[in-house]
Amino acid sequence: MEPACSLLGTVDLHVHTTMSDGHLTLEEVAAAAAERGVRVGIADHVSGRTPHLMVSSEAEFHAYLTALEGAEVWRSAEFCWCDDFGQRLPEALLARLDYRVGSNHGFPLPGGGTGSPWWEALPKPWAARPQALMDAMVDELCRMVRTMPIQIAAHSTLTPPALFALEDDVEAWWTPEREDRYVQALAQSGVALEISNRYRLPHDRLLRSALQAGVRFSLGSDGHTAAQVARLEWAAETARRVGITDRQLFVPERRW
Ligand SMILES: [Zn+2]
Ligand SMILES: [Zn+2]
Repeated sequence: MEPACSLLGTVDLHVHTTMSDGHLTLEEVAAAAAERGVRVGIADHVSGRTPHLMVSSEAEFHAYLTALEGAEVWRSAEFCWCDDFGQRLPEALLARLDYRVGSNHGFPLPGGGTGSPWWEALPKPWAARPQALMDAMVDELCRMVRTMPIQIAAHSTLTPPALFALEDDVEAWWTPEREDRYVQALAQSGVALEISNRYRLPHDRLLRSALQAGVRFSLGSDGHTAAQVARLEWAAETARRVGITDRQLFVPERRW
């Protein structure tokens, strides 16, 4: 019989390289992962937002895929919810990916403008309405997993630090109603919820309710540096603590 947790902590489906904003080359990532006994999926940023830091043209995406196909890694890409660049790429190229990651690096706000999960201060119209901002962000996360052609939602419960400055309790922002809404969207879409070693989220209550709802999970280092790549200690410990086993993990179909 297989050990109960042979995949937990040994599969990292969210790693960056120098092909976007990572510090290690593909070869260095593969070597670091092998040394740590972890199989990795490369999910570099594919987006037109900051072209010099991302795979940002069809030609670059083609070269990116070719590089990944020459390495012992799963082939993925991290697409932005706030940018449809990835969805405009030819399907024949996108089909060469083993799975796709979607991330909230910015979300459209009701009334216009773009919100950021990294906001350290709230801009004027939202400073007086932090709960409305949180609702808007959760609405967008639900829309992201329901409409984006992705298999994993990365660091999705990342919440603006400006909100924690007002109230430093994750459950004050991720209320049961908002959690339920997001968990339902994940369960119905079949998109896996990433446990992010880098950002140390989601929090336990949301993970437990996702587990109960039959949501699948993936572990990601979101590694950009040698210290981060293929490091999943916090994510694996968290998964075990809430009762997640290999059976609930999303694993790409292709074996290598
Ligand atoms: Zn990201
Ligand atoms: Zn990332």
